[in-house]
Amino acid sequence: MKLGIGYVLFMLVIGGVAITANAQKSGATAPGLTQLEKMTSRFAPTPLRVDTSKLSPGDQQALVKLIEAAGILNDLFLRQMWSGNIALYSWLQKDTTPVGKARLHYFWLNKGPWSDIDEYRAFLPGVPPRKLPGANFYPENMSKQDFESWVAMLPEDQQKEAKGFFSVIRWKEQTEPQKSGPKSSSARSSASTANRELISVPYSEEYKEDLTQAANLLREAAALTDNGSLKKFLNLRADAFLSDDYYESDLSWMDLDAPLDITIGPYETYNDEIFGYKAAFEAYVNVRDEEETAKLSTFSRLLQHIEDNLPIDPQYRNSKLGTTAAIRVVDQILATGDGAHGVQTAAYNLPNDERIVQQKGSKRVMLKNIQEAKFRSVLLPIARRTLSKSALVDVNFELFFTHILAHELMHGLGPHQINVQGRDTTVRAELKEIYSAIEEAKADVTGLFALQYMMDHAKDLGLGDTLPSDAAAQRQLYTTYLASSFRTLRFGLNDAHGKGMAMQFNFFTDKGAYVEHADGTFSVDLDKIKLAVAELDHDLLTLEAQGDYAGAKQMLDELAVVRTPLKRTLDSLQEIPTDIEPIFSTAEELAPSMKQQPAVKPMRKKKTR
Ligand code: ZN
Repeated sequence: MKLGIGYVLFMLVIGGVAITANAQKSGATAPGLTQLEKMTSRFAPTPLRVDTSKLSPGDQQALVKLIEAAGILNDLFLRQMWSGNIALYSWLQKDTTPVGKARLHYFWLNKGPWSDIDEYRAFLPGVPPRKLPGANFYPENMSKQDFESWVAMLPEDQQKEAKGFFSVIRWKEQTEPQKSGPKSSSARSSASTANRELISVPYSEEYKEDLTQAANLLREAAALTDNGSLKKFLNLRADAFLSDDYYESDLSWMDLDAPLDITIGPYETYNDEIFGYKAAFEAYVNVRDEEETAKLSTFSRLLQHIEDNLPIDPQYRNSKLGTTAAIRVVDQILATGDGAHGVQTAAYNLPNDERIVQQKGSKRVMLKNIQEAKFRSVLLPIARRTLSKSALVDVNFELFFTHILAHELMHGLGPHQINVQGRDTTVRAELKEIYSAIEEAKADVTGLFALQYMMDHAKDLGLGDTLPSDAAAQRQLYTTYLASSFRTLRFGLNDAHGKGMAMQFNFFTDKGAYVEHADGTFSVDLDKIKLAVAELDHDLLTLEAQGDYAGAKQMLDELAVVRTPLKRTLDSLQEIPTDIEPIFSTAEELAPSMKQQPAVKPMRKKKTR
């Protein structure tokens, strides 16, 4: 599961819909140069430079191999998204007119001819009007029914493979699609599907050439690194690319804790909008952030102490917290494939394989430099427009990121297993569809509470320089949080984070902790916000402890709304970029031969089994 810093789904407020709706009505003309440039400008170009000088000499050499391996996954992902993608990309590269260049740019940003943040509407002529629900995991003219009736007739082990993460579905004796250009996919008659049979082709066969090349590079990197956990993961993942059995390598990825950090493979299934079965390839090549890693371990040691002091009735506190979820903080050097289109991933939780999650839990990787880039390109402009002049100086990235860390840790605190009128149950089961909104708000507010608590007791807790705790730092924490709440709210209330944030915004405003000024800007009342945070945290934790669905529902109905002053403020943010467009400067310098752009391959006959 991955998260952008904002939540991507509802872009109405950003004007995305207005941009393409006109152009794409029933096959109308594709956006022209001006429109394309406007669409592209929603992503602020941001060079990503990462200091790799502290890596060991072996890791520095391994890094080059990993960048090259990751680059191959761009090519692979383009193939997975659409059968016409590679040919289209090569056609775009030959077009040197201004509109051709603008198309190529936006294509690469989306890794396809459909605009991610405009509900995947086409921005190029001659392509399907929207991303295909089955991407290129299934034949374009296969119906859901075709698949289901075929699977029903298979023996159990073959059913498993057909529905598995790591295979594509094809018509038997279907040859690879024509590579003649963007119009090639338009009309394959569904009548011709009669009497044809589906087959499942494992990724290791379907993408043999690319996966073999990537596996070789992973093995070369494994031979170069001096870190045991990285060596083990790379060798096992190379094996998995060729065997389609990712289990052992997923386990070893959970144990990976190395200065040079990588996530590479087929993971998320969002792009399979028919069944959600098929995993798309992606890679993230990272360097561990040692400073944040140290901060994290300090905070982790204090979790039980914070739990014991949460602002709730002591009977609801958990006297023995379970093991905390694995978290890594890294700086990203390169992202490719599914990890590099549309809104950029700021953090991800993997793996998705339930067997691993049961056995070892999952690991959360937080991309600090991506968060910082978004902070500078999106949050600071929002702050300039929404905060009073005197508040603006208090917007601070370090405290922004520290709160995000605290948020993640706080999901582990507070009530989870509860007892309601003698019945053992869970908060999730009791709060049902509103659980996520309440739990996200709880993590936010408990994060503020915990940081305030640590700031108040910094000396006793021996925090040293880990967390600044003076009055300025406290102002920075809450003011930055206020600015970031506008960023979250911009994405609308359909998302759990948006709902939870609207509730907090109105609660704090009603308590006089957020103050609106005559010129429409906002600031924080430091004394009032401390009290309001403890009060709201008490309410949220108590709702969870009591599994109080009715109470939680009432609170959301009253507070998770956009009132007029907030609406006015959000409306004023339309011209601010939605996200960043990363430019992988360090990766390009270290591995100039990196396959950023896929080569067009000669047609070859697809194997059948
Ligand atoms: Zn959360």
